[in-house]
Amino acid sequence: MQEDPFEYMKKEEIPKEFYSDLENAPFCSCTFCNKDLLSGSELYMIEKSYKINPVNDKRNTIFEYAICASCSFRKMQAMSEESVQNIQAYMQEKFVIDDWDSSRKLHFERCVVTGKPVSELEEYNMIGQFIGNEMIIGQFPVVMSPSIGEELQELLSQQTKDEFDDFMSTINNVPPELKELFKSKRPVLV
Ligand SMILES: [Zn+2]
Repeated sequence: MQEDPFEYMKKEEIPKEFYSDLENAPFCSCTFCNKDLLSGSELYMIEKSYKINPVNDKRNTIFEYAICASCSFRKMQAMSEESVQNIQAYMQEKFVIDDWDSSRKLHFERCVVTGKPVSELEEYNMIGQFIGNEMIIGQFPVVMSPSIGEELQELLSQQTKDEFDDFMSTINNVPPELKELFKSKRPVLV
């Protein structure tokens, strides 16, 4: 029998919040390299950015993507040492997760950095970690205020920023208007 290194992790079905709007189903491939995710055994992350319409309280997706572990790793390697250290220090200091084992409902209720209830946010990013067709419960999922992405962005060296821009330009299956949006609204994970 094949050993599953993630066997002992708490997992559950992928919640609809993390479905791809484009597919109206779970993400089936990595946005960056098109690798199959659902039947694979590689970890991947999904980030979705939502904006609430104040008129009707409807939630609209600003951007969404899935990134496989290999692409994340390539990204990390491209970052300068200074940027990696800055970001790690920031995460250690700012990320407040009271109960790592708590239900995902709790994870979805507050910004992981500011503690603000999601219901008070007009815009937020959701990040989750997945394997195959399941979500892993632990450090993720988290909800973040968009200002966190901006703060993280400030911690990056110019060199790293340029590399991110190169990386973002490799996204091929997002609409051009989203690519344009990425220039001002930076995703947290890439
Ligand atoms: Zn990939």
